[in-house]
Amino acid sequence: MEKYSKMTLPDLAAVVRQRLEAPMPFLNETEAEVARRLGMPIVRQLTRQDSAPGGYKALRMSNLGSCARSLAYRVLGVPEDGRRHDGRTKATFAMGDTAESLLLSALTDGMAAGLGPDGWQVGGLRQDTGQQRVTLHVPVRGLRYRVPVDGHPDGVLKHAGKRVALIEIKSTSSYGYSKAEESQGWGPEESYWWQAQGYMHAAEVDWMGVLLLCKDSGAFTSFWVPRSAKYLSMLGDHLWRVLDEDHTGDGPDRDGRAMPARVLADGTRLEPKAVELYKRKGKWGEAGTPKRGSGALPWQCCYCSHWRPCWGDTVVSRVGEDWRGRPSMKLYHVASMSDADRAAPEPETATTATPDTGDLPL
Ligand code: SF4
Repeated sequence: MEKYSKMTLPDLAAVVRQRLEAPMPFLNETEAEVARRLGMPIVRQLTRQDSAPGGYKALRMSNLGSCARSLAYRVLGVPEDGRRHDGRTKATFAMGDTAESLLLSALTDGMAAGLGPDGWQVGGLRQDTGQQRVTLHVPVRGLRYRVPVDGHPDGVLKHAGKRVALIEIKSTSSYGYSKAEESQGWGPEESYWWQAQGYMHAAEVDWMGVLLLCKDSGAFTSFWVPRSAKYLSMLGDHLWRVLDEDHTGDGPDRDGRAMPARVLADGTRLEPKAVELYKRKGKWGEAGTPKRGSGALPWQCCYCSHWRPCWGDTVVSRVGEDWRGRPSMKLYHVASMSDADRAAPEPETATTATPDTGDLPL
């Protein structure tokens, strides 16, 4: 069986770049078919509910890297009470999805037109497997059955008619783009890695080709993520945290439920930023009082649909600034926050600017 490496797999971004720079008729689809597919992300945002019902169905490959407690809220079917998908969020999602569809069309047609190396083709999952989704059955300690998790990879890459890899298209901020470029891909600290690994294990391929678009600049790149032999046991450990009924985690939540610890799949704990004190009196506070940003919760909590039941009244929301200096909703641990952050407006009452709740810092 032929073995592939990063050196022998195609440069996906180069194919997309060439195809975008050379408009021509589509080879295997009509313009109407492509137009219909490109419009679907908009239709989806305007017509579909985002939240899944409870149970295992709420576990999707796209959320496997999330905090154990947030996954447990989904499995338990606890009503969302936290970040909402407001109009701005929906518009951001629709723009990202549409740009991703554009790149996938350019890649698929570019490969068909011979802009990549010989013998390589991209197709849809349904064309290749007859199904629209893949399902991974995860072994979890203490359970006599495997936990099913569904996912929808963007495409399949074949060489000489044989399935070699899956394709995933993502759009991200310039922060996430630079991070991926510096690390030359994703590792377990990146939640997308958990999704990519889930797809590869379910489809039994060794590689995931990722096309990554920077939403801020329009730059795009591609890289290859290899399948990890340790993934299934790492994921099993994380789902055990989620599904174990004897949670000793971080104590009960606002409503008295025993819930799992606030920990990401890679073991990172989600907790308020440590308190730092001003050494001398300044613009934002007195000497000996907490500095601005003290007690701030990680971004994962700010984007979580269950932050209110999770943290209860130990946390408040305020309008702060994101890494670009734009207004953004922040959460603070009340006991640790600075006087200046305490005095900032609540997002619901802020009238000076619309806090950004839709553009993930990834
Ligand atoms: S608020 Fe944070 S710690 Fe709590 S469930 Fe959500 S992501 Fe996890």
